[in-house]
Amino acid sequence: MASPQPVDIPSSILIIGSGVFGLATVYSLCKNPLFKDTRITLVDRQPFPTPDGSSIDSSRIVRADYASPPYARLATLAQTHWRTTFAPSYYHETGLCITASGPEQKYVPSSLANVQALGTDRVEVLTSSDDIRRICGLEGGAPGSGNTGYVNWSSGWADAEGSMRWLRGEVEKLKRVEFVTATVSQLLIDHTTQTVSGARIKNNSSTSTTTLTADLTILAAGAWTPSLLDLRGIATATGQVLVYLPISATEQTALQSHPTLLNLSTGLFMIPPSNRLLKVARHGHGYTNPTTIPHPESPSGDAITVSLPYTHIDNPSQSVPLEGQRSTRTFLEQIHPSLATRPFAKSRICWYTDTRSGDFLISYHPQYKGLFVATGGAGHAFKFLPVIGDSIVECVLGRTPEDFKGKWEWPAERVPEESWEGDGSRGGPVGMVLSEEIAKTTSKL
Ligand SMILES: Cc1cc2nc3c(=O)[nH]c(=O)nc-3n(C[C@H](O)[C@H](O)[C@H](O)COP(=O)(O)OP(=O)(O)OC[C@H]3O[C@@H](n4cnc5c(N)ncnc54)[C@H](O)[C@@H]3O)c2cc1C
Repeated sequence: MASPQPVDIPSSILIIGSGVFGLATVYSLCKNPLFKDTRITLVDRQPFPTPDGSSIDSSRIVRADYASPPYARLATLAQTHWRTTFAPSYYHETGLCITASGPEQKYVPSSLANVQALGTDRVEVLTSSDDIRRICGLEGGAPGSGNTGYVNWSSGWADAEGSMRWLRGEVEKLKRVEFVTATVSQLLIDHTTQTVSGARIKNNSSTSTTTLTADLTILAAGAWTPSLLDLRGIATATGQVLVYLPISATEQTALQSHPTLLNLSTGLFMIPPSNRLLKVARHGHGYTNPTTIPHPESPSGDAITVSLPYTHIDNPSQSVPLEGQRSTRTFLEQIHPSLATRPFAKSRICWYTDTRSGDFLISYHPQYKGLFVATGGAGHAFKFLPVIGDSIVECVLGRTPEDFKGKWEWPAERVPEESWEGDGSRGGPVGMVLSEEIAKTTSKL
């Protein structure tokens, strides 16, 4: 567990990463009178909006449908903001249909029990693939649709890029933040005093390096965080499959008011289309990308191997491996056969920052003074955009919400990744390595 640290208000804070965790934290710091005299700097390796960031996409599911009550509570609070003052034009409450092939998928009944306990009367239990087909407006059905589940009409989805742009606009209006576009190459760690005093940055347009110093550094670099801090056994990057199909205006009209279909037995899901693009994705165990790097904390530079993102910024011709393309095609053949052979408009690998239990990591570092970590989105943090910044600032102030104590704090032990249980929501294949799947794809072309 992280040792409690004094919570003097820092005179300067450096936030690394401008995704959900970083940008929401910056917004909350700017609005909190306790930080009115604090100098706030936000650095990101890409100009906003980060083209390969996990927070930037056409859509993200917004749901209180959680097997874990604290997340169901916090998501319910977030939804009150989505429905009213927080980027409301980017939020669409068209429902979420969560399904499974059979009773071995335990997340669905736990999540149903939690949303029913929250008192919504907008939940319908579905007991057959015909029910699911009718509710979701599918052409086909099982096995892609699943056989059991429920629809929650109080859930929806948000235009992720649109709402991140909205939030960035709100932050800019406050005129409190210095924005820097540069890649952090290292944290500034003084090993004698065990203190972090900021970060070393590489200027993206030259080879020069310089430093950004601060009393408190908040590391929120998403799936890249393990390149800046040793998170082995705590958090890791997994690549997830996303494909987008071009559709006609008529097809969009037919599909856009139906709920999102999320089959937790396979992890495959389809979000209602927008801008004539239909997104199909897999909430799965993902691909790892083992990468050997100098130990980010060790002055002697020993090497460690960690999974890190590999994106279309690293390789502009990157596409989803054949295995992933096939799984989305099979899903479409089953639920919407008329779309199944249509060429994709684009495909993308998007990176989760996975943790052992699917809990976020929002904590002071147990060893280094002046370092706070806000990451571990584990494929489900986007919906919390309206509230996660306030939660992070509460944790910075030493006031972790009661129901998240023991979940968000630095874990007591590091557990080998092959033993992680996750939150029980993932479907699809396990143990895939991205380079191996790319090699299989290349050999078949
Ligand atoms: C395919 C996919 C589907 C998802 N679906 C959902 C969903 O339906 N609902 C939901 O609630 N959540 C969903 N999520 C999860 C959610 O999107 C993420 O949990 C959240 O966006 C993570 O935000 P972040 O701030 O941790 O990461 P990011 O948005 O990736 O931000 C990290 C930032 O750090 C920057 N950075 C990295 N390294 C450095 C460096 N060295 N120097 C400077 N800057 C650096 C990056 O450029 C980036 O901008 C999904 C995620 C993915 C990938």
